[in-house]
Amino acid sequence: MQYNKKVVDQLKDIQNKTVVVRCDYNVPIQNGVISDATRIEASLQTLNYLLSKNCKLVILSHLSRIKSLDDIKSNKKSLRPVYEYLKNHFADKNVVFEQDNTAKDLKQKIANYDQNTIVVLENTRYCDVNENNEVVKKESKCDEELAKFWASLGDVFVNDAFGTAHRKHASNDGIARHTKYSATGFLVANELKQLQKALNNPKKPVVAIFGGVKISGKIDTIKHIATFADHILVGGAMVYTFLKAMGHEIGISLYEKDALDLAKSLLATLGDKLVLPVDVVCAKDPESKGQTYDSKNMPADLEGFDIGQKTADLFASYINKANTIIWNGPLGLFENPNFANGTRKVAEAIAKRQTSDLDVFSVVGGGDSAAAVTQFGLESKFAHVSTGGGASLEFLTNLPLKGIENILDKNQESNPNC
Ligand code: ADP
Ligand code: MG
Repeated sequence: MQYNKKVVDQLKDIQNKTVVVRCDYNVPIQNGVISDATRIEASLQTLNYLLSKNCKLVILSHLSRIKSLDDIKSNKKSLRPVYEYLKNHFADKNVVFEQDNTAKDLKQKIANYDQNTIVVLENTRYCDVNENNEVVKKESKCDEELAKFWASLGDVFVNDAFGTAHRKHASNDGIARHTKYSATGFLVANELKQLQKALNNPKKPVVAIFGGVKISGKIDTIKHIATFADHILVGGAMVYTFLKAMGHEIGISLYEKDALDLAKSLLATLGDKLVLPVDVVCAKDPESKGQTYDSKNMPADLEGFDIGQKTADLFASYINKANTIIWNGPLGLFENPNFANGTRKVAEAIAKRQTSDLDVFSVVGGGDSAAAVTQFGLESKFAHVSTGGGASLEFLTNLPLKGIENILDKNQESNPNC
């Protein structure tokens, strides 16, 4: 997929406009306190740019999922803590919170605010449930009326929410289709630029590393990456489906029965391109200490939780020669320190390769993989750590990103449908 979307700083006449900005403020909140504000910080470049142009901002975001009125009444999924954060951050600005994100008088209210006001609307997914507690999914199924209403709140639309870029929702695709002028924010623009670097004419050799739990969720990504990668290294729980398909004993390890045929066909088509672990770390359960075994000879009563040291060294030997490295999925149960070694060693090998040669391009995508890199304190050593879990995976699969497709292209003056 090749995108050439307009970026916010390429919008002409942005000065003094009212701009609807879709951010990804789906941040972790415990007891009303934001435990990780990375996503908010990542949005500031775009907000600062628009404020420097004396714009009025109307900010939209979802937070978690809304399945019933209880979710709304409990206030646990309210964007209010995000509003408090922004109010604190932009102490010299007027920052207001609008609880009713579909209020009839909202447009008028916004019109009455001074320039440079930041209006934060309540969680867009509150519109997924109506007052009769029916799940109507107006946001998540892209209700046209809702999209038109939100689009009507500003003159320009800026989409800077990469985390939902693969979803066609009212607050992203819907607004883009009903707004005359639109662009991506800096965060989305950078994600597209970096991920495209990995996919379009990447410098060879290309090494891709896959892990995580299921093959089935990543099969299309593996297949697409395999069309241009030189080596595909596989770890994580998905390995056991491959080993099982090869007829090996995998003990009580997780595997996908329904994906055995899939694994067999991948083994056949990818051949030597596919590099599987030679040793694995097994234990009775995640609380027990692990022991290393040959991957072709696992004990029948144990479960595999990590790749072994020999495998980590083998993977590092491929990484050391790679010029493009694409990584998705942890290689073991890294959240548990007993089984974090494989993921850590691979992350360190990529960081080392990247810092030894700036022409190398290393990218990690996937929510848990990015969390692992951050946990090891290595995020600054990678060329790019994608902030979008599902979105980066779909992009690496060469699927269109439904949430940004209708943002204007660079060479488009305005939306012909408006
Ligand atoms: P990402 O979010 O990066 O795409 P996934 O969601 O596919 O990654 O998988 C991440 C999860 O896989 C992590 O929570 C990790 O603990 C788990 N995992 C990896 N290997 C194993 C294993 N051998 N046994 C159990 N869980 C594993
Ligand atoms: Mg995940």
